Amino acid sequence: MSRPLALRPARDFEQRSRAAVNDAAQRKNFRGAMDFLQQKRRAQFADEGELAALRDLGQAIRRYSLAHLPRLLEQLESKCTANGIRVHWAQTAAEANAIALDIARRVDAHRIVKGKSMVSEEIGFNHAMQAAGIEALESDMGEYIVQLAGESPSHIIMPAIHKTRQQIGELFAAKIPGAGYTEDVDALIQIGRRVLRGKFAQADIGLSGVNFAVAETGTLCLVENEGNGRMCTTVPRVHIAVTGIEKVVEKIEHVPPLLSLLTRSATGQAITTYVNLISRPRQPGEKDGPQEVHLILVDNGRSQAYADAQLRATLQCIRCGACMNHCPVYARIGGHAYGTTYPGPIGAIVSPHLLGLDTTYPLAFASTLCGACSEVCPVRIPIPDLLIRLRNEANARPGSAEASLRGSGAARNRVLTAIWSGWSLIYSRLGLYRLTSWLISRGHALSPVEQGAWTRSRTPLKPAARRLRDLLKDARP
Ligand code: SF4
Repeated sequence: MSRPLALRPARDFEQRSRAAVNDAAQRKNFRGAMDFLQQKRRAQFADEGELAALRDLGQAIRRYSLAHLPRLLEQLESKCTANGIRVHWAQTAAEANAIALDIARRVDAHRIVKGKSMVSEEIGFNHAMQAAGIEALESDMGEYIVQLAGESPSHIIMPAIHKTRQQIGELFAAKIPGAGYTEDVDALIQIGRRVLRGKFAQADIGLSGVNFAVAETGTLCLVENEGNGRMCTTVPRVHIAVTGIEKVVEKIEHVPPLLSLLTRSATGQAITTYVNLISRPRQPGEKDGPQEVHLILVDNGRSQAYADAQLRATLQCIRCGACMNHCPVYARIGGHAYGTTYPGPIGAIVSPHLLGLDTTYPLAFASTLCGACSEVCPVRIPIPDLLIRLRNEANARPGSAEASLRGSGAARNRVLTAIWSGWSLIYSRLGLYRLTSWLISRGHALSPVEQGAWTRSRTPLKPAARRLRDLLKDARP
């Protein structure tokens, strides 16, 4: 599980970012990977008209789902229950883990095999299970690599994107008994598969995430490329699906447009290798499938975003990662520098709700506001607007009307606040503005004509100030 930004969030974030920027090899890895993903996405959306229409549809479906979220969640619960899926509600990460642990203890589970699930990362599922003496093994290849390395994912779709094949070869040779060093990608995948294959049969519980939960039918939709998700959800006798409350949609026909946007934006695939639709546990006469299916619906701060008319758009996210792939900041510092489960632009807007603005506010400032993220977001989340709002919240006076989030005001700085208040006062009173301008213009005599070598090609300050003064004089009535 990735750790949230700690005691001195601004300084810690700065240190991590500085270290990442100075790591030339890692920067090269990320740059190459981001260029590759951008190019694959572009190839999928060659028809701009089709893309625009699909994004409109995706945005409309997500907005509709959120507008009706309480009703849809209730409908999902009753339909899942009728299908034989047991539904659990978790307000916090700790509650979600406690629910999973209760299930594990009841069925006397010792091993859990996991498909890819960012919500399980978010709640620290692996740590919670290991603390209780239960093995939780990642089966997605990228997740398996970072788990083996004792790291957290650096990308929400490609968790081990920061690693080269040489580094993975060394890791496998060091950690997997009998595995010699190789940097051949196919051979590395075969080694990982050999280890994981046996684990599915030994596992008591399979854990998965959910891409979309369909309220009308009680169906859990799950996409993946490796087949490990299907193994997790069918081989062990118990399947636990864990997801955020925002993943619900009303109808099964809402899924295909979102799926198309998701896979094309995420990995540049028209469709993933596997699309799993799970609606019930194994039925009499069926040859496979779990005997029990559980769905844990996790809030963990999402209600805070939901309650705010502007910040609710955060919950439209379908976790495609395209905003990260196109973010100039993410491409340079990578995922680990953020210190949160969700890095990049999506991490900057969602983490304050999950962890509090007091520990995550530097992320909102780690953006050039260039708008690349919102340009590629398949469900049109206005990410720069949300970042500006979070910056204002971070600087708001605690207790004021502007401070409405957990941890608002954490970035407030008395000196800066005094400077900007003075600035605002001067600009709002004409007499004061003229007096200040006059006083400042007196100061130009103190500045050197030439400030240094780098200014030689620029207009020297004194003549520039003189010209400005003449202009102001001419402009006076
Ligand atoms: S914010 Fe948009 S682009 Fe980023 S992960 Fe979510 S859906 Fe994808």
